[in-house]
Amino acid sequence: MTAIPLAGVIGRPISHSWSPRLFSHWLKAYELPGHYIPMDIAPDALEACIRRLPDMGFVGVNITIPYKERVMDIADMISDRATLIGAANVLIYREDGRIHADNTDGYGFIQNLRQGAPDWSPQAGPALVIGAGGAARAVIASLLDVGVPKIHLTNRTRLRADKLRADFGNRVQVHDWVQAGNLVEDCQTIVNTTSLGMTGKPPFRVPLDGLRSGMVVTDIVYTPLKTRLLDEAEQRGCTTVDGLGMLLHQAVPGFERWFGRRPVVDEDTRMAVMA
Ligand code: NAP
Repeated sequence: MTAIPLAGVIGRPISHSWSPRLFSHWLKAYELPGHYIPMDIAPDALEACIRRLPDMGFVGVNITIPYKERVMDIADMISDRATLIGAANVLIYREDGRIHADNTDGYGFIQNLRQGAPDWSPQAGPALVIGAGGAARAVIASLLDVGVPKIHLTNRTRLRADKLRADFGNRVQVHDWVQAGNLVEDCQTIVNTTSLGMTGKPPFRVPLDGLRSGMVVTDIVYTPLKTRLLDEAEQRGCTTVDGLGMLLHQAVPGFERWFGRRPVVDEDTRMAVMA
C-alpha cells in the first residue's frame, strides 16, 4: 500500500500562515490523498525536527519566518537560486535520504506578475525595487533572471541595499532612500518589497507623482490586498498586480512534487485562501 504523503510548513509563530489553507484547498479540489500540517517549532528543536520528519512519512516542508536562512545550514544540497538568495522556503526529502533546499519565492513573484500583467515585458525598461530585506533578494534575483536590464534599488538602510548590489552585480544600482520618489518615472516596473503599507505597519509614503499609464506596479504586501501604492497606481492608469498571487504561485512547485499534480492558481484559489 502506498503511504499517504505528508507535507507541512515550519515557522514560529505559524498561526498566521496561509499555506495550510492553500494546500488543503488544492488537495480537496483535486481529490488527492495527503495532509499538510502547520508546525510551530522552537529554535533549539528545529534541526532535530527537520531530520526526523521523513521517518514519519513527510515528503517535504515549506519553511517560513524566522527559519528561511537557518535551514540552509541543515540541508544537504542547496539549489543555485537558494544559494544566490541566501534563504530557502522549501525542503524536499529525497529518496536517497538527502535534504534538498530550494527557494521558490522568486518564481512565485514572476509567475504572479506574468499572470496579473500578461503584457508585461521584463526587457521593456528598468525596474524600481523599493526595499532590501529578505523578500527583496528573491525579487531581485528573479527580475535579473528574466532579463530586466537594470534595477534601481532603494532602501531606508542603505547598507543593506549596498550588500545586495555586491551580491547581484552591476545591473543593480543603489540610490538613497530620499530619492525613491524621483526614480519612479524612469522605470517600467515598480515593486514594493518593504513591509510599509501592510496592516499594522507604517504607511507607504514614497511620492508617486511619477507613475504613468503603461507601467506595471506590484506590491508584495498582501494585507490589505489593495495597498495605497496599488490604489494610486491604478488611478494613474498603471497595470497593478497584488501580492497574494506571489504567495500562491510560490507554493506550486512544492505541491506538484509532493502530491503529484501541478495546481492552478485561479480565482477559486484566491477565494479559498482569503476565506
Ligand atoms: P524584512 O527582511 O524584515 O525586510 C523589511 C523591509 O521593509 C526592509 O527593506 C526594511 O528596511 C523595510 N522597512 C520596514 N519598516 C520600514 C520603515 N518604517 N520605513 C522604511 N522601510 C521600512 O522582511 P521581508 O521578509 O523582506 O518581507 C517584507 C514584506 O514582504 C512583508 O510585508 C512580508 O509580509 C511581505 N512578503 C510577501 C510575500 C508574498 O508572497 N507576497 C513573500 C515574502 C514577504 P530596512 O532595511 O531599512 O529595515
